[in-house]
Amino acid sequence: MRVLIVEDEPKAATYLRKGLTENGYVVDVADTGEDGLHLARTGGYDLIILDVMLPGLDGWEVLRRLRAEGNETPVLCLSARGEVEDRVRGLELGADDYLAKPFAFSELLARMRSILRRGPVWHPEVLRVADLEVDLVRHRASRAGKRLDLTPKEFALLSLLMRRRGEVLSRTVIAEQVWDLHFDSDTNVVDVAIRRLRRKVDDEFPVKLIRTVRGLGYVLDDA
Ligand code: CA
Repeated sequence: MRVLIVEDEPKAATYLRKGLTENGYVVDVADTGEDGLHLARTGGYDLIILDVMLPGLDGWEVLRRLRAEGNETPVLCLSARGEVEDRVRGLELGADDYLAKPFAFSELLARMRSILRRGPVWHPEVLRVADLEVDLVRHRASRAGKRLDLTPKEFALLSLLMRRRGEVLSRTVIAEQVWDLHFDSDTNVVDVAIRRLRRKVDDEFPVKLIRTVRGLGYVLDDA
């Protein structure tokens, strides 16, 4: 189990890292919201322990951005402020649990286990990258407010690219995820589908969101 701790206070971070490592977790620590967000986007964690009070990008903002990007990694918020409003805010923003400091380490462990047992409770309904929106519940996509007319496979392809925004996805991975093809002989189907998708998503807009990374695959981002 890999855990990311985002905590700016060195003593608290050290204490958490030590305790969790002793309990068999593989732990990374970020001491700013920016680093935490970056690691959360790239790291593949089973759980994020997120301190709310961070200088600069605070925990709320880190959580809000992760969820806006469709990141479903369970998040346990930590805060010195155990106010009801904070707790509600955290849960509304998509936290899986909330623990007020100071807390007993055994309680943290128990809550972590409970989150990891039940899996992520938060699922995104709408994914957004720039002015592109994908509504996973209504199965609709739009760009700059204009509805995109996508086939079910194009919708699945776009959703995959949006969920993993910023990540270069190989043709093999795309073929597996969207077409359930477990061989890499005919990934031409991916190129054809991407071409069609681009025509609908990018062609008439000045900012192109889907990029080809030569020799590697495709990536969707607004960089
Ligand atoms: Ca703090």
